[in-house]
Amino acid sequence: MVTGAVAPGSLYLVATPIGHLGDLSPRAAEILGGVDVVLAEDTRHTRPLLTHLGLATPLEAVHAHNERETAARLVARLVAGASAALVSDAGTPLVSDPGAVLVAAAIEAGVPVVPVPGPSAVLAALTGSGLPAVPFTFFGFLPRKGPERRERLADLGALRHTAVVYESPQRLGETLADLSSAGLGGRRAAVARELTKKFEEFRRGTVDDLAAYYAGTPPRGEVVLVLEGGAPPAPADAATIAAAVADLRRAGRDSRTIQSELMDRFGLSRNAAYRAAHAEEG
Ligand code: SAM
Repeated sequence: MVTGAVAPGSLYLVATPIGHLGDLSPRAAEILGGVDVVLAEDTRHTRPLLTHLGLATPLEAVHAHNERETAARLVARLVAGASAALVSDAGTPLVSDPGAVLVAAAIEAGVPVVPVPGPSAVLAALTGSGLPAVPFTFFGFLPRKGPERRERLADLGALRHTAVVYESPQRLGETLADLSSAGLGGRRAAVARELTKKFEEFRRGTVDDLAAYYAGTPPRGEVVLVLEGGAPPAPADAATIAAAVADLRRAGRDSRTIQSELMDRFGLSRNAAYRAAHAEEG
C-alpha cells in the first residue's frame, strides 16, 4: 500500500499496540504500509503485526545490540531519500525501548523525525490509576541492585508527585517490599496489569497492601507500578524558620543555599524562602 502519507527521507516513530490490536491507529497502519522499510526491535515479533494489517513492507532489525552500528548506515539511507518507520515490540519506541541513538543521529543529519503517537503503557497505567496525573515522573525500569537502585528508591521517596515505574512481574513483590522498607508503605499505589488485554486489572491500595498481596505471588503478565507522591512537609511557624536560618548562617551557608534548604525542609515557595533567607541579613 503506497500512499501520499509518507514523505521521502523521513524517519517515523510509530507506536504499536501493547496488547489490543484495535489500538493501532489508521495513520500508523498507513505509515507502516507506505515506508520503504520498517525498523523493528524484533522482526519475528513485528512480522505478524504487518501480516495482520495485510502489509509486506520489508523489515530490518534495530535493537539495543546493533543500534549503534546500524544508525550511521540507516541515516545515510534516509539522507538519500528512503523513508523508514521505527517500531518496538510493543507501545511507543524509545519509551524503555531502543531508538534513542538512531533518532539522535537522524536529527544530527537533518532528517525529519516524525512521531506517530499511540499506545504506551506509561500513560495507560497513569490515567487508570486514579492518582494525580500532572505532574508525574516516569522512572522506566528501576536498577536491579546496588547503589543505583538505592539512589533511585530514594528519588522515588523524595518525590512529591506521582511516579510511574515499569517492573517485571518477578520483581514487583521485591520492589514493593523495598518501597515499604524505605518508609513509603502508607502511600497510595496502583499495579496496572495486562493493559488493553483480556485480563486487564488495576489493583489499588497502599504500598503495604500491595506488598502483602504480591509477596511470594508474582502477577501473571506485564505490570506497571504507579505510586503516589509524598505529602509536603507540615507548615513550619515563623520562629522555627528563623531559627533554622540562624543555624544555617552560623554554619557558614550563603543566602542562596539557605533559600534552597528552606524550600526542601519546609516546603516553602521560592519567594517565601528568599524572603526568609534574606530576612536576618545585614
Ligand atoms: N515501549 C513500551 C511502551 O511504550 O509502553 C514499553 C516497553 S518496556 C520494554 C516493557 C514494559 O512496559 C513492561 O515490563 C511493563 O512494565 C510495561 N508494559 C508493556 N505493555 C504492558 C501491558 N500491556 N500491561 C502492563 N504493562 C505493560
